[in-house]
Amino acid sequence: MVRHHVELDVIIDCGFDEMMKPEELNSLGSQIIRCYSDNKKSEKYVNLKLSSFNKSLKERFTTVMRNQHLQWKNIEILEEEYHFPNDPEDLKNWVYLSSDSSNLIETLEPHRTYIIGGIVDKGRYKNLCKDKAEKQGIQTGRLPIDEFIKISGRRVLTTNHVFEILLQWLVTKDWKLAFENVIPPRKLLSNVHQDNTSKKPQLESNQIAENSS
Ligand code: SAH
Repeated sequence: MVRHHVELDVIIDCGFDEMMKPEELNSLGSQIIRCYSDNKKSEKYVNLKLSSFNKSLKERFTTVMRNQHLQWKNIEILEEEYHFPNDPEDLKNWVYLSSDSSNLIETLEPHRTYIIGGIVDKGRYKNLCKDKAEKQGIQTGRLPIDEFIKISGRRVLTTNHVFEILLQWLVTKDWKLAFENVIPPRKLLSNVHQDNTSKKPQLESNQIAENSS
């Protein structure tokens, strides 16, 4: 397979260490390994970065995970917080992904920076990433889940699923396929597969894949 590099940055913001329980932090560690390996295998791959990698998560990687991250290639691991641009024009190219956002992401564009919150919180901290982004003047965006598929449960996806969906969209340019290829089958409502029309299904309840795997 010929792999293509897409000039697009994805930052996993690891600045939420203190807000997670030990098992959630462990889960985030595994999710980050998944992101790294998905980016390594994907037909289209992006510039993957970790920011604020400086506390408990780093500690876990350097101890239990035996420093495996030090062998990783094609990833930038920053101890400090990401540096967003001061120039409002440049800042327009930054998007913090959040299921709480009222802005819909329709396409992913090269030369933009997409931030994914590196946190497993099982719904404890609603608006956490949205509020952080807004304080920093960074626009937010949610994935168009309900616009393309029917799912059960909460619409808050895990960090690695969101990253995988971004990669899948870059490969397929099709949100429906990207969601179906990534979201666990038990979360997809069965009638999705019978609906081949261009209708955009809407769900009433506001509840996806639990933010816990
Ligand atoms: N309470 C946390 C939820 C973390 S889920 C919060 O405030 O965001 C892990 C990350 O995945 C989120 O921070 C967000 O960046 C991304 N994410 C999860 N579901 C999403 C969705 N439906 N649309 C856009 N981004 C999503």
